Amino acid sequence: MKTALYAGSFDPLTKGHLDIIMRGSNLFDKIIVGVAQNDQKSNFLPVKERISLIRECVCDLQNVEVCSYEGLTVNFAKEKNVSVLLRGLRNTTDFEYENQLAQNNALLAQDLETVFLLTKPEYACITSSGVKDILKNGGNITKFVPEPVQKYLSKFIS
Ligand code: ADP
Repeated sequence: MKTALYAGSFDPLTKGHLDIIMRGSNLFDKIIVGVAQNDQKSNFLPVKERISLIRECVCDLQNVEVCSYEGLTVNFAKEKNVSVLLRGLRNTTDFEYENQLAQNNALLAQDLETVFLLTKPEYACITSSGVKDILKNGGNITKFVPEPVQKYLSKFIS
């Protein structure tokens, strides 16, 4: 059974993230979405809320599990008995960062492979921070996030 770990902040989950989860769930027997709990980072949504929103968005996918983790992703992968890290790539800027991350993770855990899926062109410019900026300024985020996330975040629009 091949399980892949898709780790990130998902603060909030975007249509780009969801697309990677859906495509990953077709490629692997199981996907674990790991929501990184990083108290040093100033978060927008608490981890609990991020998790319940992701769960709502993936409720039709039987082979997707969502949970939080702290510390190194490689340690969480080991704890979950996972041998593949799934990542999304939007552009060359992502590539520079993701390449470094994957190489570091390979040095930390030799038996862990990182697999990349290219974003769909329509999601290539979508970022969680962009969504937060648009929201703060009263813009419409319908095209950027899945419906449950949009509904939840509408309470932040004054
Ligand atoms: P972080 O906050 O650690 O950058 P994110 O939660 O933003 O993590 O992203 C997790 C993963 O999802 C990363 O591999 C990132 O490149 C990918 N990703 C983010 N946005 C998109 C998108 N619009 N399309 C495809 N992949 C994406």
